[in-house]
Amino acid sequence: MSMELNFLFQNCEAQATARAWVRNDSCNFRLSRKYRIYYRFLRPFMPIAVRQLLQRKQRVVVNDGWYKPIEFMNSLMECFQSTENELAQIRSWPNGSEFAFVLTHDVETSEGMRHVARIADFEEQLGFRSSWNLVPHKYKIDMGLVKDLQSRGFEIGVHGFNHDGQLYSSRRVFERRAVAINEAIKKYGAVGFRSPMVHRNLNWLQSLEIEHDSSCFDIDPFQAAPGGVGSIWPFIAGRFVELPYTLPQDHTLFVALGERDERIWKDKLDFIIRHHGMAMMLTHPDYLTGPRESEIYVRFLEYVKNLDNFWHATPMDVARWWREREQAGVFALQPSSSAAQEPVGDR
Ligand SMILES: [Zn+2]
Repeated sequence: MSMELNFLFQNCEAQATARAWVRNDSCNFRLSRKYRIYYRFLRPFMPIAVRQLLQRKQRVVVNDGWYKPIEFMNSLMECFQSTENELAQIRSWPNGSEFAFVLTHDVETSEGMRHVARIADFEEQLGFRSSWNLVPHKYKIDMGLVKDLQSRGFEIGVHGFNHDGQLYSSRRVFERRAVAINEAIKKYGAVGFRSPMVHRNLNWLQSLEIEHDSSCFDIDPFQAAPGGVGSIWPFIAGRFVELPYTLPQDHTLFVALGERDERIWKDKLDFIIRHHGMAMMLTHPDYLTGPRESEIYVRFLEYVKNLDNFWHATPMDVARWWREREQAGVFALQPSSSAAQEPVGDR
């Protein structure tokens, strides 16, 4: 039995293509032997500075524009037999908004935990609300802070079990930890999840009692499990809505690539706006500690704030919106060109 994957495309070929991308990227993952040894025996003893040095040495060769899922978009256009212009007419957000803008954070360490309040404050001042994914069995979690954030409209999610990289070492390990993860989900009043290191297996993740997951991404060659589902839109993956992150991680830009501004975020956002997708950021309070990184992040938020016609929502809001559309039988991802509006039976 395989789980339902639904992209809310009316076009059957587009559905099939998008599903194939997900199956290929996110449905069969488990840790390779090499990584099982690394996470179990080597990584725990490496200071973070050494790990970061290794990551910088690990040269990933990429083209300009590595952060845009061009290949996926081209395969969609083939399905619709349409031009880029027609694809750009897909409208899936409330009130005709051009794109959705979603902020998420994974809190990696107790040091990161100390920066949560400060970052939440300036997001709130700019009119934004984000979700904070916490690791239940790694550092102390202040339930007072959790409740305070939730009462101000922020969302709390769960980020793995203890972040040791071994969640996907076997199905048995995953299932055992899923019990504890589900307990944490209940305890924090969470409805969302993201796996550490964005390791991902949507089949295994069905064991979690969640409304949404964000362990997938459209494209990211810099992760330990690189690749991507291609889609810059949410999709239904069995019992939850999958919300792929679509803007490169802060860690990738600032630590791995040494970027010094928000150029890449802006360029990717343009791409997402052109296709009316979901711009989901994944940043870490652990890396937004220095004044430079914080400034770049704030500058980017201010830039977005000044754009019009976008829907700012928490991951929970987006997941619920998407689920409603599915239940109402709305084909959310349908170019509104005349060619694409033919009834299905006619093709
Ligand atoms: Zn993490």
